[in-house]
Amino acid sequence: MGLEAKLSHDGFITTKLDAIIAWSRKNSVWPMPMGISCCAIEMMAAGDPKYDIARFGSEVMRFTPRQCDLMIVAGTVTYKMAHVVRKIYDQMPDPKWVIAMGACTSSGGMYRSYNVVQGIDQFLPVDIYSAGCPPRPDNLLYALMQIQEKIGKTKAREFQDKPLPDLPVIQNK
Ligand code: SF4
Repeated sequence: MGLEAKLSHDGFITTKLDAIIAWSRKNSVWPMPMGISCCAIEMMAAGDPKYDIARFGSEVMRFTPRQCDLMIVAGTVTYKMAHVVRKIYDQMPDPKWVIAMGACTSSGGMYRSYNVVQGIDQFLPVDIYSAGCPPRPDNLLYALMQIQEKIGKTKAREFQDKPLPDLPVIQNK
């Protein structure tokens, strides 16, 4: 029986606290837009009326980490910048999630260079990788839907105690 039919038939619904909290969390994911280079343009496009990230409850992009629970890292992360990204991640309250958007963020992309981190999973617990150079906005939306699916399976009191790797250091050769 659908929700509407159940309500009109019984006048009430029952659920679990875990389920209602997970449902609320997954439909109000607030992104921290960590736009570092070209991928950020596509991330911004995801918020325009055509792609309309608001459909997923994620239109509230915040520029203060304390109000965010999803970090979208979009762009080429240098070793110097990695410390800034990690610091902002650390300032976000738990529970929190991470999308690595694009080839550079996920693996260094075309930059096989001494100064570029070859994947942000060296210093952040990445939940979803979004492929492309750059990924299209709808690809980012798909990543968001995957995050929502993940959040939907969490327990209310589950503490996101993910072990964090050490910060990367520049490999001088
Ligand atoms: S993946 Fe491509 S578009 Fe994205 S930051 Fe790297 S070079 Fe730019």
